[in-house]
Amino acid sequence: MKAHSILISCGLISINLLSIFPLINPNHVAANTMLPPAQSKSLVSGVKWQGTSFPIEVFQGYTSLFGYRDSVEGGSKKEFHLGLDIRSPRGSYIRSWKNGKVLRVFQDPACGISLQIESNDWIHQYCHLEGGVEERNGERFLVDRVGGLEFQEGQSVEAGTRIGRVGMSGRTTGPHLHWGLMYQGQWVDPGVVLREMYIQQSNGVLPLQRL
Ligand SMILES: [Zn+2]
Repeated sequence: MKAHSILISCGLISINLLSIFPLINPNHVAANTMLPPAQSKSLVSGVKWQGTSFPIEVFQGYTSLFGYRDSVEGGSKKEFHLGLDIRSPRGSYIRSWKNGKVLRVFQDPACGISLQIESNDWIHQYCHLEGGVEERNGERFLVDRVGGLEFQEGQSVEAGTRIGRVGMSGRTTGPHLHWGLMYQGQWVDPGVVLREMYIQQSNGVLPLQRL
């Protein structure tokens, strides 16, 4: 019921427009297409979400939603944000959204220290983590010694497992989790998934909230 209490609180927190932390068009996945909103809703509403976890432990607000937004470089240009940014204190823990296997740990200039988990047709991605990527005997690990975490590519994780901590790696101006969800190679709005998770995990009672 962690997702329940966290999402209720989100209705009480206004979005801080000064805290927009960018991550645009990450190039570390095979496809950069997105599922149209209507298809996302029908996909998500046909799924049982009882075994899923809200991805962070300490929720401080949604700082950038999935979809078009003003360019972070200014001007009138719009750009597409392929995930959901969730503000959380630096060093607080991130949890796996679903049961799955660690598909990839990596570091790049946009996403920073990052982890991708594969759960059947879904890939969930977590960016801007603490720690680092290490290679030993040809195997790749996400290592966060301060957080007491180590994950190897191919390792199984359960929904709700602590898989990383919120950091400042990659292109970011403040600590937050960039959370991306991909279904069969297409990005899906994580807000649509969270809403459906909430409805199912709270017996259909949906409070006033930002998403
Ligand atoms: Zn982002």
